[in-house]
Order: sequence, then structure tokens, then C-alpha cells
Amino acid sequence: MSPFSLEGRTALVTGANTGIGQAIAVAMAQAGADVIAAGRRDCDETLAMMGSGRAMRLDFADPMAARDVFAEQRIDILVNNAGIIRRDDAVDFSEADWDDVMDVNAKALFFTCQAFARAALPRGMGKIVNIASLLSFQGGIRVPSYTASKHGVAGLTKLMANEWAAKGLNVNAIAPGYIETNNTEALRADPDRSRAILDRIPAGRWGKADDIGQTAVFLAAPASDYINGAILNVDGGWLAR
Ligand code: NAP
Repeated sequence: MSPFSLEGRTALVTGANTGIGQAIAVAMAQAGADVIAAGRRDCDETLAMMGSGRAMRLDFADPMAARDVFAEQRIDILVNNAGIIRRDDAVDFSEADWDDVMDVNAKALFFTCQAFARAALPRGMGKIVNIASLLSFQGGIRVPSYTASKHGVAGLTKLMANEWAAKGLNVNAIAPGYIETNNTEALRADPDRSRAILDRIPAGRWGKADDIGQTAVFLAAPASDYINGAILNVDGGWLAR
């Protein structure tokens, strides 16, 4: 079998109804995985695009929402993609905008990984792919809780890799650059911002959700078995500038 195949594996992708999560679910299904498309709303479009798989309701308004999911069925691959962003000046930033973003992007991600590991560690195999950000490395502007949460995702990815690598679990992350999704619609609608961003991307184009989907397949497949605690930039070269 190809080392890039996910045949015989079950993958759960959070936030799979749209954007990057949808592209990851579709790419993993194409690579042969049985995909559980998890979302806080229905994932019918994703199911139709995959032509196989299942849907599951998971709303991280409760960051512990996934506590029982992995005990109930065997899941080999976990992709923590669900994420939100709130924008305001640092001097005005509210506690609610801090807590909401940290709960979904960092707390829910960690406890979903913990629940997955409790089921996967006794089997001695499993793959976790977390979705980080350029703001796992850079400060950004007007997005304090997003930046804190995504720096947290990078740190937690390394911590979990350190604890679980020798026990057969690979924990890695993808740091997407500027990808054409709902998340970046406002940026692309602003011609000045859009041009400034494009001018800095060595690849000369915005990323597509499928660019992240294919990388997630790699990090979930046997081909990446010796990759642990990596934060893989998929950014058209942005961070290389
Ligand atoms: P998106 O289209 O806004 O997708 C975000 C996903 O997270 C949606 O499925 C959303 O569900 C889900 N989500 C939000 N809150 C949730 C909750 N409480 N419970 C369960 N699911 C929840 O944006 P995207 O660009 O695809 O973002 C996906 C991931 O990539 C995020 O972690 C984001 O930070 C990261 N990222 C994106 C970019 C980019 O350029 N687009 C760059 C770096 C990192 P709803 O549809 O119901 O809101």
C-alpha cells in the first residue's frame, strides 16, 4: 500500500462543514479514510463532496464536548481544525472575546487531544493534526486572543508530541498562510489589504483550502511516521520572507 494512503483508517475532522476543515475531510476521504465530519451545524455539503463517511455534532461552546467520542468508537486520526477569531484593539479587547476564542482554539483542542490519546495510547498508534496559524509565530494586530491561542496550539503540539511520540502517537500541526475561506473574506474584500498580502507571498497567490487538505493527508499517513512535534508552514513562503 502507498505510504500516503489512509485506507483502513478512521479520521475525525472538527469544523468540517466549511473551509479548511471541509477540504481536509474531502482530501482524507479521497486518500481512502472513513471520515467523520464533525461540526456544530450539519455537514451535508461535506458528506456530498466526500460521497462517503459520516457526520457528527460537536459544538465546542462546551470545550469538553468530545470527552466521550473516542471511547465509543475506534478513531485513528484526529484533526483539530475548528477555530474562531475576534478583532478589536488590544486596549479595548473584552474578556468575552478572550474567553470565547481561548475556549474553542486552545482549551477544546487540548481536551479533545487528551480524550483521543486516552483511547489511542493503549493501541499504540494514532495521528493528531492540529491547525495552527502564522500567528503561532507572529504577533498579528488587533487579535490578542487569537494570537495567544495559536501560540498555545504550537506549544501544546510540541508538549503532546514529547509525551506521546515514543508511545506511537504522532502529534503535529499545520500553520496555514493566507487561505481563501470565510475566515479571510474581509481581507480579500479590501483591495489595499489584499494587494499588500499578495505582494508578500513568494508563491504569488493566496492558498487554497485543498493545499491544507493534502498536507493533512501527509501528516495522517504512514509517510510521516517519523515527524513529531512539527509545525509545518503551508504559506506559499510567507514566513520565509
Ligand atoms: P471558517 O470557514 O470560519 O471555519 C471555521 C470552522 O470552525 C467552521 O467549521 C466553524 O463552524 C468551526 N467552529 C467555530 N466555532 C466552533 C465551535 N464552537 N464548535 C465547533 N466548531 C466550531 O475558517 P477556516 O479558514 O476554514 O478556519 C479553519 C481553521 O484554520 C481555524 O482553526 C483557523 O484559525 C485556521 N486558519 C485559517 C487561516 C485562513 O487563512 N483561512 C489561516 C490560518 C489558520 P461554523 O461554520 O458553524 O462557524
